[in-house]
Amino acid sequence: MTQSLVILTGSGISAESGLGTFRDTDGIWAKFDWQVLATPEGFRTQPENVHEFYNARRAGLKKAEPNAAHFALAELEKAWIARGGDFLLVTQNIDNLHDRAGSERLIHMHGELNKMRCEHCGYIHEAFDEITVDLPCLNCRQAGGLRPHVVWFGEMPLEMELIYNQLESCDLFVAIGTSGTVYPAAGFSQIAKQVGARCIEINLDDTETSPIFDEHRKGMATQAVPAWVAEIVG
Ligand SMILES: [Zn+2]
Repeated sequence: MTQSLVILTGSGISAESGLGTFRDTDGIWAKFDWQVLATPEGFRTQPENVHEFYNARRAGLKKAEPNAAHFALAELEKAWIARGGDFLLVTQNIDNLHDRAGSERLIHMHGELNKMRCEHCGYIHEAFDEITVDLPCLNCRQAGGLRPHVVWFGEMPLEMELIYNQLESCDLFVAIGTSGTVYPAAGFSQIAKQVGARCIEINLDDTETSPIFDEHRKGMATQAVPAWVAEIVG
């Protein structure tokens, strides 16, 4: 049996929970200006607009629920670990639907909507409600430095060393609901392939990186993911 499993998820897994995708042609960045809302420069010049945007996303997330695909991956994690396997779930999503479904060995490589970070002292706070420019940091007490703890354009994704280490020793890599076009995540399948891992893609459609994968499963995440998990868990 395969021992080390790495799963990468993207916005396609949360779309059926009612959360908009960011980079699709009808996604959030087609309607909002990412240069203002998702760059350090935008935050420096228009912090109120940036907070307003993420406050709205945070309010929307409260109304969303994890779906069958999120729950299936949490079930898979428990079963895999119970059999002595190594497991890591890496998500590009900033929502907390994997967390709420029960996933534990989880990395949010693009940060988390429900966290904020102080630019003065680096302290990371939970943020389930509105963030404003005059909100003081709980650690250093200064106001004006709190920003969404999300990775913006031009910034490095989080925990990359840990992710690469895990990829370099994995036996099975599965990409779910991700277009495969955004680096560095787009390179994960190449690394897994190089170390001889079996690569499975679960998506609505083929992607630019589809030729790398050994197996393709097309379909809605809420159907294709539980079906795949059921085959493994038995
Ligand atoms: Zn601070």
